[in-house]
Parts: sequence; structure tokens; C-alpha cells
Amino acid sequence: NRAKRNSVDEYVTQILQGNITFLSRAITLVESTNVKHQKKANEILERCLPYANNSVRIGITGVPGVGKSTFIEAFGKHLTSKGNKVAVLAVDPSSSVNKGSILGDKTRMEQLVTDENAFIRPSPSGTSLGGVAQKTRESIILCEAAGFNTIIIETVGVGQSETVVHSMVDFFLLLKLAGAGDELQGIKRGIIEMADAIVINKADGDNVKNAKIAKVEFNRALHLYPLKNSKWQPKVLTASALQNLNIDKVDEMIAEYLQITKSNNYFTEKRNEQNTFWLLSTINQQLKDNFYNNPIINSELSKEIINLKNGKTTPFNAAKRLLNL
Ligand code: GDP
Repeated sequence: NRAKRNSVDEYVTQILQGNITFLSRAITLVESTNVKHQKKANEILERCLPYANNSVRIGITGVPGVGKSTFIEAFGKHLTSKGNKVAVLAVDPSSSVNKGSILGDKTRMEQLVTDENAFIRPSPSGTSLGGVAQKTRESIILCEAAGFNTIIIETVGVGQSETVVHSMVDFFLLLKLAGAGDELQGIKRGIIEMADAIVINKADGDNVKNAKIAKVEFNRALHLYPLKNSKWQPKVLTASALQNLNIDKVDEMIAEYLQITKSNNYFTEKRNEQNTFWLLSTINQQLKDNFYNNPIINSELSKEIINLKNGKTTPFNAAKRLLNL
């Protein structure tokens, strides 16, 4: 196994030179559950960290079928044509080793995948969202060290994964479709609140009129929220990923956001806050892993569960005893 043989030095040198093969393999180490791999991954990460951070991190969410991969492909091509290097990562906690992930699936972004300035990586697998997100965050660092200046994190608009992705990106984009007047009903309030922009996709053909109506409604909804600390007023755009319409406007909008938030320092503050959050969540994750992976805890936990069933202990007492162990 070649991933094993290469030294940390070699990995770091190659990644910093933008070597995609080594980047890929390093991410594989990050995603591995093997303790040796994780140790190596951590060493690589530590050495890459000083070269990271120099990017725009964009989160993209939306329900299945809204056009995420079509949009990311069009947007990604637009960005690489301007000389950017674009990495696409995904957060999909439902993906498992066997199923693979639908998100970031290479076959879904056929043009972008052959672009030498793009790097596409499907979601790491994992049972807990926290674990999946941790791996993605570490992969962001590696991609940045490899010279990718735009990191796109795709997630599906169901469940909690949006919140997690929101906490690792600078700009959060919600993709929507124009519906039959019920645009605002199906949306979870929290997601709208998180969005820095809503892009109403599939604004082409017969859909253009509805998309324009939806735009007005979403705009109204967004204006109900107080102005964010970023001083950025979230925007609504219509676009067609399929026909490549208005994709450049999304790019311009993000540039405007960056201009505002970098000059008022919000950009840096937010990243600092995110780092603190990730520090704490890494500690939480590690503590839990250490606890549940401990063989003594494992056997005692099973015993306590039986005791609990037999009325010999209470949940509180059992927990207390296990934690004291
Ligand atoms: P995802 O599940 O959110 O990644 O959605 P996909 O990108 O796979 O797109 C779902 C379907 O919608 C595909 O058949 C796409 O061709 C189609 N689609 C995506 N974007 C557009 C668009 O802008 N206009 C139209 N008319 N169809 C689109």
C-alpha cells in the first residue's frame, strides 16, 4: 500500500506543490479509521496548516433534484475559467462505505472532473455527522495547502448537515426552485436565516416567470430578519445552472460579500469563531471516542444496560459509575 510507504515529508512537499494524487491520498488517510493512518494524517495536517486558510469557502445546499451538482459544475467551470482552483467536497452523513455517496459523485460533474484546476471528492463515510464533518474540515485544510483558492462544500438540504456546513464556510448558499406559490412554506426557518444568498435555480424556459415571482417572495422573507453582524443583506438571484444563465452574477455577488466582510473584519472574526467551535467539537468528539472505544467501558456498559432492565440501577447511577471508571 503506497499510502503507507510515503513519508510525511513527501506528502507535505507534494501537497504544497499541488499534487492531486498526494492530496487525494492524504484525504484518504484523514478519512481512515486506522489509528496509524490517523496519526500520519494529523502530522500532515499540522504541517499543512500554515499554508491553509487562503481561500473562499462556500457552502451549497438544497433538496435533492434542485440542481446542486449541475450548479456546482457550471459555477466551478466559471471559476476555473477565470484562473481559480476549485475543490468540491461534500458532507453527507447518510453515506456509508458500501453505498458510496451520491454527493460530489464524480459522474455527476462530468465536465468539472476533467478540469485540471478542479478537484472533486465525495463525502467521507461515517455514522455520525460530527465525525463526517470533522473529516471534511480537515480535508479543507489539505485542499487549501494544495493551492485551491475556492472550496465548495455541498450538502443535501435535509436534516442537520446544513448547520454543520454553515459552521465551516464563509458564504452559505441555498438553492431553491420556484414552486406554485408555496415557496416559503416548505422551508425550515433556520436555513433561510443561515443563508447569505438564495439562488432560485432552473430559471429557464417556462419557469422564468415563476422564478421571478419566487425571487420577490424570498426577498421579502429575507428582509424580515435583522441585518446580520456581517452587515451583509442576503440576496436572492435567479439562475439556470443547465443553461449557464446568471452563474457569473453569483460569482460577482460573492466577491461583493467578501469585499464587505473583509473590510469590516467580519470575515476574520467569523473564521476565528468557527475555529473555536471546531476546537470544542474536536474535544467533544475525542472524549466520546475515547470513552466508547474503551474495552472496559464497553463491557461494563453492556452490564449496566442489563442491570437497568432488571431494575438494579437507574440511568443516572449507571452513567455516573461508567463515567467514574
Ligand atoms: P441535485 O440532486 O441537487 O444535485 O440535482 P442535479 O444537479 O442532479 O439536477 C437534477 C435535475 O435537474 C437534472 O435532470 C438536471 O439536468 C436538472 N437541472 C439542473 N439544473 C437545471 C436548470 O438550471 N434548469 C433546468 N431546466 N434543469 C436543471
